Amino acid sequence: MRINRFERSSSGISHDKKEVQQFITELKNADAVIVGAGAGLSTAAGFVYTGPRFQEYFRDFIEKYHFQDMYSGGFYPFKTLEEHWVYWSRYIYINRFMEAPKPVYNQLFDLIKEKDYFVITTNVDHCFQKAGVEKERLFYTQGDFGLWQCSKPCHAQTYENEETIYRMVKEQKEMRVPSELVPYCPRCHAPMSMNLRADHTFVEDEGWHKACQRYEDYLTQHQKARVLLLELGCGMNTPGIIKIPFWKLTRKYENFRYVCINKGEAWAPEEIWTRSLCINRDIADVLQEISFQAGGTEELK
Ligand SMILES: [Zn+2]
Repeated sequence: MRINRFERSSSGISHDKKEVQQFITELKNADAVIVGAGAGLSTAAGFVYTGPRFQEYFRDFIEKYHFQDMYSGGFYPFKTLEEHWVYWSRYIYINRFMEAPKPVYNQLFDLIKEKDYFVITTNVDHCFQKAGVEKERLFYTQGDFGLWQCSKPCHAQTYENEETIYRMVKEQKEMRVPSELVPYCPRCHAPMSMNLRADHTFVEDEGWHKACQRYEDYLTQHQKARVLLLELGCGMNTPGIIKIPFWKLTRKYENFRYVCINKGEAWAPEEIWTRSLCINRDIADVLQEISFQAGGTEELK
């Protein structure tokens, strides 16, 4: 396989269509595919936390607090829980319950759905399940926007928030949600918090542990198979969850292949170059190109 070395300058980024063909060939030859997805995949799907999307839904907060983007606003210590949940209910609603602006996840699912596959992701926006990935084939390591937990936490359980989030969005007035919608722990009555891995309070509930175990079992069961590790949009913020383990697995098992698609950040260590394909391009463009290629997905079956 050809290697595209890490290039920071845009002039070094290749737009070679052969790479996409190589990727298709690798998919076709693989017995199993493990997708490892990071924030860059959701950005490619249009979940952007800045610009017009941020201004459209958070104009009042921008005026009042001068927030620069959706993500950093989420850390603001609002004086009341009623205001906190106005911000967070909109945040969750548009990033978890609304459809993705671009069909990137659906195109990705079309590529893998006929294969033996598993998905590990640091994304919390539920896009894989919305696209059709079965829960049993998915390990969401960092939580889910659709889940709450006790903020202390006094017990390791998560709670679905969809119904309350919809009501919060609908019933909020003058930057307050009705007090009766503010969620409290059913056991210790502390305020509920998001089930997102931001600090040591993150709850790994039974579902999380089962998913983790299924991922480990999947790796064990496929040690002798030709496995394609497909890394999409993982940056260097938390490389220890997907990126570095994928590199180690590729080095350990000769039958494993590593494909990384990430504009400006696709790179592999030298020891695994002969088993790696790094595509320094926008993920949405690459997936779009494959879905346009006649029979591109047909031949993968
Ligand atoms: Zn509690």
